[in-house]
Amino acid sequence: MQVRRDVPLADLTTLAVGGPIDRLIEVTDASELVEAVRDADEAGRPLLLLGGGSNVVAPDAGWPGDVVAVRSRGIERRGAAIEVQAGEPWDDVVAFAVTHGLAGIEALAGIPGSTGATPVQNVGAYGQEVAQTITAVRVFDRAEKDECTLTPAECGFAYRDSRLKREPGRFVVLSVAFRLDESAQSRPVGYAELARRLGIDLGDTAPLDDVRAAVLELRRGKGMVLDPADPDSRSAGSFFTNPIVPAAQVVEGCPSWPAGDGHLKLSAAWLVQHAGFGRGTRDGHVGTSSRHSLALTTEPGATATELLAFADRITAAVQDRFGVTLVKEPTAV
Ligand SMILES: Cc1cc2nc3c(=O)[nH]c(=O)nc-3n(C[C@H](O)[C@H](O)[C@H](O)COP(=O)(O)OP(=O)(O)OC[C@H]3O[C@@H](n4cnc5c(N)ncnc54)[C@H](O)[C@@H]3O)c2cc1C
Repeated sequence: MQVRRDVPLADLTTLAVGGPIDRLIEVTDASELVEAVRDADEAGRPLLLLGGGSNVVAPDAGWPGDVVAVRSRGIERRGAAIEVQAGEPWDDVVAFAVTHGLAGIEALAGIPGSTGATPVQNVGAYGQEVAQTITAVRVFDRAEKDECTLTPAECGFAYRDSRLKREPGRFVVLSVAFRLDESAQSRPVGYAELARRLGIDLGDTAPLDDVRAAVLELRRGKGMVLDPADPDSRSAGSFFTNPIVPAAQVVEGCPSWPAGDGHLKLSAAWLVQHAGFGRGTRDGHVGTSSRHSLALTTEPGATATELLAFADRITAAVQDRFGVTLVKEPTAV
């Protein structure tokens, strides 16, 4: 276990904002992770868990306690089941599955960050989400001071949400188990833009490799793959979730999808754009990505305060113009 002092959070997060950390602890396996969390809790030091730092807005004031960086690695396969250590980079897991002829997560290629963070907001893209394949999440429960295994029902997965997110800080993910399909073909493609790119009908399947490659290509075109040479990827991905509203609350012209139970999911990107924040809107050192109005990006010199104030201006404009409340996707620490 390595402990370092005064490392800026900006160096550990993709938005590259955030001040110095009192103690940064890098852990390389599940038992070190539990030990580091127990130590911080017993000493009463504030604790922040970080994987890839790709979904947090870190505070300018820094962190007055322990930041535990989860760097545990390992993918264990038994037939169609895999169990993945929390620190394993998610995109490597997708590559592993595709290479080994395991279907179910191929559309989630290119999402930055660690596997342990995927159940937290039920990571999803291009018609798939991890809730479709997760069978168990091994956690350390800080309330009970013990390890346990959560079933998918106990994880309470919803759209970009879970119990792990709704009870912030309680559950430390140690590993995640998935059940995939032993197949060289993808699961039915459920996203129109991806189906078009593959030249297939919605609901058809395609070779796993082709689906992964098409997703990576689509994501690169939107600056949604981390790339130090691409300033549009200096972001936390989508900054707002697609709002779910009662079906009666139609917004003229806004793309929408049925969200069950008499509700509609509205396109947050459309709302942001039509509230006056089109692609490439800049304000100081922050703004919307030049290729995707939903991704907020930073430039060197940006602060979390500046970014959150910009996000608040977007939220107010969308509320004002359309009467719809936007919800931020990243964790504002
Ligand atoms: C360019 C870009 C594109 C993106 N595209 C997508 C997308 O298509 N779909 C999508 O869903 N997301 C997307 N994201 C968001 C992000 O990649 C995911 O949410 C990812 O799962 C975050 O992983 P992380 O390891 O970086 O988490 P972090 O940012 O380190 O942490 C996120 C939250 O999870 C908690 N956490 C981290 N590790 C653990 C753990 N082991 N146990 C318990 N809690 C933990 C943290 O405390 C924090 O609250 C994108 C981000 C970027 C920068």
